[in-house]
Amino acid sequence: MSDYDVVVIGAGNGGLTSALTLAKNGLKVLLLEKHNIPGGCATSFIRGRFEFEVALHQLSGLGTKEFPGPVRSTLEELGVMDKLDFVKMDNLYRVVMPGSLDINLQADRNKVTAVLKEQFPREAQNIDQFFDFLYEHVTQWINVKIFHDPEASKDKYPNYFKHALKSTQEILDKFFQDPQLQTVISIYWSYMGLPPSKLHFGQFAVTLWAYIEFKPWHLKGGSQALSNALLDSFLENGGDVRFNCGAKKINISHGSITGVITEKGDEISVQRVVSNAGTLKTYVDLIDPEHVPESLLNELGARSVGPSFVTLFIGFDCEPEKLGIYHATNFIVSDTDADRAYRTAKTINKPEYSLFTCYDVDDPQFSPEGTCQASMVALSYAEPWLTIPPMQYFETKNEYANKMLDLLGKVFPDARDHIEEIEVATPITHMRYLGHPGGAAYGFDQYAKDSDLFMNRRSPIKGLFHAGAWSGSGGGFQPTLTSGPSAARQILKSMK
Ligand SMILES: Cc1cc2nc3c(=O)[nH]c(=O)nc-3n(C[C@H](O)[C@H](O)[C@H](O)COP(=O)(O)OP(=O)(O)OC[C@H]3O[C@@H](n4cnc5c(N)ncnc54)[C@H](O)[C@@H]3O)c2cc1C
Repeated sequence: MSDYDVVVIGAGNGGLTSALTLAKNGLKVLLLEKHNIPGGCATSFIRGRFEFEVALHQLSGLGTKEFPGPVRSTLEELGVMDKLDFVKMDNLYRVVMPGSLDINLQADRNKVTAVLKEQFPREAQNIDQFFDFLYEHVTQWINVKIFHDPEASKDKYPNYFKHALKSTQEILDKFFQDPQLQTVISIYWSYMGLPPSKLHFGQFAVTLWAYIEFKPWHLKGGSQALSNALLDSFLENGGDVRFNCGAKKINISHGSITGVITEKGDEISVQRVVSNAGTLKTYVDLIDPEHVPESLLNELGARSVGPSFVTLFIGFDCEPEKLGIYHATNFIVSDTDADRAYRTAKTINKPEYSLFTCYDVDDPQFSPEGTCQASMVALSYAEPWLTIPPMQYFETKNEYANKMLDLLGKVFPDARDHIEEIEVATPITHMRYLGHPGGAAYGFDQYAKDSDLFMNRRSPIKGLFHAGAWSGSGGGFQPTLTSGPSAARQILKSMK
């Protein structure tokens, strides 16, 4: 007789939603989390009078009651919607290229195209044609990937089959001449961590479509409120949780799971595990090598670990308007060269791209009265940070933060003078708190070849399942929140 039906390792989005789904279905579930709070990336921390949001800038896939997206459907099925208070963000994003471009788009297709046509009149026809093309692509994607049309074929869905794997840049070049227009339309590339030249169009199209149609959202209390609500419901449904208690080993015998050993040395007998700790860590650190097929290690070794972030968490001593901040989501880029911006993410040189999000624009109660908080992120791979001698780490981190503030100053000149609190996180910080290689926010680099279009996600180890950004569904809140119930459904099916 096992101690539990399932042990879930890690309380990130994927771990929490899988644990809750399993508990709601009557299974005896233990959730192990090495940190002292639930959420993984979806957490907050306190400095001075500010509670800083760690990760969430824009939640995709929520939608409305009338037009629900996958995140709303998942949270409704999990019974946590009543515990949450979501805040709609009317603006899609603003893109600023200091000195040469400043454009703001609202989360509505007609308004997006109207503003783009006003700013780029010579490309008016191309803009309409591009959005028709993108919407047709996504409609076909939905029929193939979501509704699993049994008659799906190249003839029936030519746009999807012909273009899903093309690079986003190739499609942009097909429609547009103006590099600034290309930059404005494709700025969400950073949400997937690859520039348009490396990002497959299918993924880009679905992301842009989802933010326009389901709108970007945030929530009262930030992403920590979501993680807390998921945990509360898990406990209400009879689940057990242990914080400050990482999993150290998954025991295997004859190809099947027999138990989990915690960092505290407790041995839990169990035949099924959902790992939210990432596939690399699971197969390399948690499982003894003799149990992992060489072919799987080779497959994992052929992928590259994706980017992390340098984040400035800033508490300002004034309201946003005083600093000239009227939009929540501001992309600040030096020029139109996304490849160069991406290359600098592999260095610790001056960042060429940044996202500045001020939460109080849409939710004036987000921070204490008379203040506001923002987070400024730059994509950053861990490698250059790992080469810095420990004695120079803080100096290097502060120098980098100063370069980011210089970039911010080009758009909001008074911002630096109103900083009351500031904290800086680098990929090393994310490595420490999440435990993921490279502090990766989205798991592996999101190349099409490594997505669930091509990869078999079934584990060769009986009883092992994966949820979260590394499991093939991709990084971000939407895919990880929905990956948990999907892993749970596989378990429930396997038990029938
Ligand atoms: C700065 C930043 C900004 C972001 N902005 C956005 C955004 O605006 N929109 C968006 O959609 N996405 C955003 N993301 C990405 C998104 O937050 C992540 O992709 C997603 O939250 C990852 O969820 P996950 O399920 O993979 O779990 P993770 O968040 O990776 O959590 C994994 C959990 O497992 C735990 N763990 C690891 N090893 C063990 C072990 N051995 N034993 C027990 N526990 C273990 C960790 O402590 C952690 O709690 C951002 C990420 C970051 C870092």
